Amino acid sequence: MSLDVNTLFLVTIYVEVILGLLLLFVWVQNTTVTAVAWWGFAHLLRAVSVVLFGLHGSVPDVVSIDVANAVLFTAFALTWTGARVFDQLRPQPILLFAGAALWLVVCRTPLVADSFNVRILISSAIITAYTWATAYEFWRGRSEPLVSRWPAIFMLFAHGSLYLLRTPFGAMLPWSPTGNDVFESVWLTVLSFDALLFTIAIAFILLAMAKERTEHRHKTAALIDPLTGVPNRRAFLQDGEAQLRRQAINPRPLAVMLLDLDNFKSINDRFGHAAGDRVLQLFAEVSSRSMRRMDVFGRLGGEEFAALLFDVTRDRALAVAEEIRVNFAAASSEVDGRRVVATVSIGIAISHDAGLDLAALLAQADHALYRAKDNGRNRIEIGSIELVLERIKRVTDESPLAALGAKAAAKSAAA
Ligand code: GH3
Ligand code: MG
Ligand code: MG
Repeated sequence: MSLDVNTLFLVTIYVEVILGLLLLFVWVQNTTVTAVAWWGFAHLLRAVSVVLFGLHGSVPDVVSIDVANAVLFTAFALTWTGARVFDQLRPQPILLFAGAALWLVVCRTPLVADSFNVRILISSAIITAYTWATAYEFWRGRSEPLVSRWPAIFMLFAHGSLYLLRTPFGAMLPWSPTGNDVFESVWLTVLSFDALLFTIAIAFILLAMAKERTEHRHKTAALIDPLTGVPNRRAFLQDGEAQLRRQAINPRPLAVMLLDLDNFKSINDRFGHAAGDRVLQLFAEVSSRSMRRMDVFGRLGGEEFAALLFDVTRDRALAVAEEIRVNFAAASSEVDGRRVVATVSIGIAISHDAGLDLAALLAQADHALYRAKDNGRNRIEIGSIELVLERIKRVTDESPLAALGAKAAAKSAAA
């Protein structure tokens, strides 16, 4: 099979323009992901460079070789800038044009102007530098959990390496069978083909990254409490119920905890709402440290948090609660330079099998919490079903939800 370079050039121009417009279209739909616009312009600029390369022979070499390469390097630099912008870093205008400027200057020196191999070496080095720099930017931002980051890093690194390798390979094989027309070179066909595949693949992956980022942000906004960074009520209930269903296959004892900060209203009143917010953040930090990966923790609302600890004994659950209680009192002793000392009351419900649902367990824990508050606060109580039944009689003045939960608990326990 023989591939005609001119056809490849035309296809590449067409594909670059389509991909560039596609990326710009995606950017117009969601202008918050600015990186997509940089990437779109990178493709359009690459199309321009391929047009200039394709004019080789009919325009002066300075345009079809020197300027065409300078435009191509800037296209790679735009992709790199997009990667920086994607991870909230500022563009670097000098480095953005450094490759093109360096190239245009060295092309004026006799050594470079007269040696085809030196020109290939320099142009390869510039492309590799920008491509590896792009891979590095994505790697640097890897703390953000985007799966598509990894194929992007891999592909950019591999492509940069391939460009670097073309210098020794190019020196080994003649560029042109007749020795005078670059367009007959098998290397040009291979490289053009590679460039085409790369450009399609990278556009696809960059789009996937932008999409994954947007989806991740939406998900986070819906499920994470913005003040404390822990799962919100909805996430806690969703995750907790899902975990409970999974546990039902092989039931192990588990504990549900309700944690409510003591006299929090007065902390707000004395130290201000901002200090109150800081205390809530501290509490979330302290509690999260006591959780294992499999546990579910979240902020139910206001100054009330909940936790689901899987596969724990009663003693272990008590120990975790005590750890949180003590660590929180210590951590909150000084907030923003002021002596605060906030405390927490914790109610625990233990389930020895998978018999109770989450609402019932929360109702039991709520009852225990109520007792902890009643008995003076800054303490831990463990709930039991008998006490829940007793409380149902008194629950009429409580919220209807709590009453429902308590009734559900009683029903499940009786079943
Ligand atoms: P108790 O010991 O009985 O739990 O008393 P408490 O004052 O903690 O309970 P109460 O329910 O009376 O008050 C809760 C307070 O928490 C009232 C509300 O202003 C405050 N609060 C709720 N959400 C936030 C928040 O996001 N930030 C701050 N700073 N305060 C909050
Ligand atoms: Mg409270
Ligand atoms: Mg409360």
